[in-house]
Amino acid sequence: MIVEDTTAAAWVWPRCAVATTLTSAEIAVLTGLTDPVGPPPPDRAVCELAAGHEQMHAAFIIADAGGDRWWWIRWNRQGRQLGHLDTCDHTDRPSGDDCLLPATHPGRHSFQM
Ligand SMILES: [Zn+2]
Ligand SMILES: [Zn+2]
Repeated sequence: MIVEDTTAAAWVWPRCAVATTLTSAEIAVLTGLTDPVGPPPPDRAVCELAAGHEQMHAAFIIADAGGDRWWWIRWNRQGRQLGHLDTCDHTDRPSGDDCLLPATHPGRHSFQM
């Protein structure tokens, strides 16, 4: 657990917000999960990373395994990856909010946006 103090960050950083449409193959994988949590997977996903980030776009799709396993779609012009990823281990100091992005994500943490 890494705690960051964002007290001085009074401004809000925008999110990337680039969208993608899930392929039928990706939907088939997600609807095949035996223990999904929450609503069925959407057919469209919006990147949740900080605007101007490096690496691939990333959007949370669905959780399974009792909510402990989070599935993400990651994509860019070169390709796409659908899979479950560990969550970032950073926590905001003043609010106690956890970062909800995948571990090793580029750019700012979710509590900084
Ligand atoms: Zn993005
Ligand atoms: Zn983070």
